[in-house]
Amino acid sequence: MNAAILEEYGRPLVMADRPKPEPGPGEVLLRVEACGACHSDVHLADGDWEAMKKAAKLPLVMGHEVAGVIEANNARVGVPWLGWSCGGCEYCRGGRESLCQKQKITGVMTDGGYAQYMVAPFTHVIRIPDGLNSSEAAPLMCAGVTAYKAIKSSGLQRGQRVAVFGAGGLGHLAIQIARQLGAVVCAIDVHAAKLEMAKECGAHEVMDASGEAPEKALRAWGAEVAVVTAASVTAYRSAVKGVKRGGTVMVVGMPARDLELPVIPIVGGELRILGSAVGTRQDVRDMLALAARTGIRCHVETQPLEKVNDVFARLRTGDVMGRIVLTP
Ligand SMILES: [Zn+2]
Ligand SMILES: [Zn+2]
Repeated sequence: MNAAILEEYGRPLVMADRPKPEPGPGEVLLRVEACGACHSDVHLADGDWEAMKKAAKLPLVMGHEVAGVIEANNARVGVPWLGWSCGGCEYCRGGRESLCQKQKITGVMTDGGYAQYMVAPFTHVIRIPDGLNSSEAAPLMCAGVTAYKAIKSSGLQRGQRVAVFGAGGLGHLAIQIARQLGAVVCAIDVHAAKLEMAKECGAHEVMDASGEAPEKALRAWGAEVAVVTAASVTAYRSAVKGVKRGGTVMVVGMPARDLELPVIPIVGGELRILGSAVGTRQDVRDMLALAARTGIRCHVETQPLEKVNDVFARLRTGDVMGRIVLTP
């Protein structure tokens, strides 16, 4: 089978002919139909994140936004970032399996979906509802569930105002999800084209942060919640300064350097600063069901798997609207 292999950090992926993987006990063999190219794949391939490098196995087939068909029974399923969790630790038993310390990350610790076939534990593949095709479903396995879980964890209520920083892969989904949950949405980005897309996704208001910092305008607008999907320290500073007193800032996007946040608005405004990472299997199911029911869709461009290195180059420069989905 064809597969894109990460052999060495900082080097392009290598297209190779690999034997079709054999499912072990408790695993299913999947014919991959679509796999989203997530920005964290680029960070992993470039060797940017030390912790991830320690966990990753090389050579590696990356790809953790997988949609495909189980060979044995033709069921259409997805494989999310959380490829396996132990089921026995305090987090798994407490319904927070995405915090499991024994978890296996798809396409990082096990071979993922940048290939024609992959294997996955049957307990952790997720059925794709009718009404979503594989290209539509694939990006929901990481980008979609991450946006969904961040909004859910923020406690955003119907009728409240939410500012979404970054209208990229995660952000344009967060806008649609927040609207669907009955919130009033403001999107903030530095790219005019992404703000246009934000409007198409249903943002009531957009703010261009490429010139003046948006915190003043945001304070006037009155956001109860800020969801920061942009991997930008500046965006976090604006969120903390711009959100309402007593508001919540969701930490989702991961800048290369640590956040240095102004302390006065956090303490004086009694802000809640909350981290959010992907989600549980149930969060994925809920996201898929919400998308199938409401028409929330990731803006998708499909490219053949062979183009993976070109796609990574575009992700590095931010030249992607929504998500690029690779098809093997
Ligand atoms: Zn991802
Ligand atoms: Zn566990």
